Amino acid sequence: MSDLFSKEDTRPKSERLAELAEQAKSCSACSLFHTRANVVFGVGNPEAPLVLIGEGPGQNEDSTGLPFVGRSGLFLDECLKACGITRKHIYICNVIRCRACAYEAGRLKNRPPTAEEVKSCQPWLEQTLQTIQPHVILCLGSPSANAIIHQNFRITQERGQWYASKYAPHAMASWHPAYILRLEGDAHATAKQQLINDIEAARKQVILARKQTPKLSLF
Ligand code: SF4
Repeated sequence: MSDLFSKEDTRPKSERLAELAEQAKSCSACSLFHTRANVVFGVGNPEAPLVLIGEGPGQNEDSTGLPFVGRSGLFLDECLKACGITRKHIYICNVIRCRACAYEAGRLKNRPPTAEEVKSCQPWLEQTLQTIQPHVILCLGSPSANAIIHQNFRITQERGQWYASKYAPHAMASWHPAYILRLEGDAHATAKQQLINDIEAARKQVILARKQTPKLSLF
């Protein structure tokens, strides 16, 4: 794994991210490499001021190598669109880059990543964020908030609040789209609106930062 912290790297961000993604393809730092089909490194605009970070790849992501595809991805796109944002405006990745799964009744089923797996994958996440240097991070779900904002993040109480993070001046956590899709009725509608509100707050935070730093790219 290259160490982008140790020296000034003046290459374009897109080139540096592509190199990291290539290196990650052969990562075997945790046991998830045994069962993955693809390393899901991340996609989007390397110059994006806003980065969204989810938990980890599921089956669809593992088979395509892309984050947030399938039902969760479509739902996220719908919520982004409600705020006038498309994927070309942002960068999306996960806390871990290989699917966490276990055999159940002869089939691989998704499971939450362990603390050791998250720790093993942290250097990839850190180098991604060090390269992009986002102004705003929106964490989707508590595993992401634990990694980016603070440990033992309580998403029901702390969702929608701004924090300073060592990875970005402004970080907030919202619901993970997959969680919202499991809710029904009023609970689903409320959580969906909260996610849209949080994305909109992130968009406004970028606009505010743009006024203070005119060189920052904008939606
Ligand atoms: S989850 Fe991360 S640390 Fe584990 S094998 Fe995949 S890329 Fe490497």
